[in-house]
Amino acid sequence: YSMEVPFHRPSITEAEIEEVVACLRSGWLTTGPRVRRFEEAFAQAVGARWAVAVNSCTAALHLAVEALGLRAGQVVLVPTLTFAATAEVVRYLGAWPLLVDCDHSTLNMDLNDAEDKIRKLRQGRLPLDRRAEVVGIIPVHVAGLMMNMDDVAEFARRHGLWIVEDAAHAFPAAYWSKHTQSWRKAGEKTAAVTCFSFYANKTITTGEGGMAVTDDAQLAARIRQMSLHGLSHDAWSRYQAGGSWDYQILSPGYKYNLPDLAAALGIHQLARAEELRQKRETLARSYLEGLSDASFVELPPNPSDRVHAWHLFVIRIRSLTGQNIRDELIRKLREAGIGCSVHWRPLHLHPYYRDILGWSSDLFPVATTIWQQLLSLPLFPDMTIEEQQYVVKTLKAVLNQSVSVRKAA
Ligand SMILES: *Cc1c(COP(=O)(O)O)cnc(C)c1O
Repeated sequence: YSMEVPFHRPSITEAEIEEVVACLRSGWLTTGPRVRRFEEAFAQAVGARWAVAVNSCTAALHLAVEALGLRAGQVVLVPTLTFAATAEVVRYLGAWPLLVDCDHSTLNMDLNDAEDKIRKLRQGRLPLDRRAEVVGIIPVHVAGLMMNMDDVAEFARRHGLWIVEDAAHAFPAAYWSKHTQSWRKAGEKTAAVTCFSFYANKTITTGEGGMAVTDDAQLAARIRQMSLHGLSHDAWSRYQAGGSWDYQILSPGYKYNLPDLAAALGIHQLARAEELRQKRETLARSYLEGLSDASFVELPPNPSDRVHAWHLFVIRIRSLTGQNIRDELIRKLREAGIGCSVHWRPLHLHPYYRDILGWSSDLFPVATTIWQQLLSLPLFPDMTIEEQQYVVKTLKAVLNQSVSVRKAA
């Protein structure tokens, strides 16, 4: 093949490298002054009062539902089309995810189906206790295209639910709120807690890392405390001048704190976040343009009432004569040196949720069909025009090949 295009390549500048080196030379590697700077700047960037840095978005989600008091036996609405983390944190606390189908166009959770699933739960038609208390909802902004949080808030109010936003794909991202007649960012106002990911291939990265943001001082305090063994003081405040060596264990917490070494990357990634987003947006537009004439390809929506984070560029390969060629395309693209991925096999089609918990695919007609057509193309800020043209050209070529072989057959 003539070129190798990875699925993702992180954008790291000299500023990030120098900050990491400065951190190494400073003598303070774990949670400390760089984490504090990162948290303050991040809270400001999303328009939230509090931000707590942790070592993954999964940790942030876990701490969020813990701080909201989620208990064993309770139920939380979770989309079936999401990453493992969104639902597993509910299980950590012995509660149950009530899986919800996705919207055909946006791939985000379908609130009409959420309504329907609550009805089915009460009728005893789901593999959950019909009397279980439904307490929360965890929307996911798939690929960086935000859900309309006005609608989520209205739904949550009507059913008396808290909202935890899984915004792992949605930094920075916003939607136009008809309710307030203003742009609202992921993490701004609506949810009790919003969780972001700084995993290696996310829109900004610290290698591994995450952030929980909230306007609620008590939730922020609980999340912070539980992120470090449930201690009354973290190491940085204990070792600072005037800090006491003493601490008390207030709860059996977790070990989820972010090290300064990672925050050193985060501070600079954060400052470049909008610049990086614009690069992804430019690339997304040229994918939309370049693939507009590709037969059997459905392109992702790009509505004007969203600021799209473009974490992923997800196309759909329409099945021809009932045959699925997605897997074949991925294999051929990989053979041509192009890294692709699928986001995701829905949760209800994984053994744990299907065989062990008893979720059946009939309950999720949209996700069950659509996921077999999904294909995520490479999209990262420093992707070159040549790399992108190679992806577009190769995709069209392998598509034509697969289609004509089938037509001949
Ligand atoms: C990546 C991802 C997570 C988990 O993020 P980590 O930082 O790796 O824990 C959670 N939810 C979604 C939708 C993700 O894509």
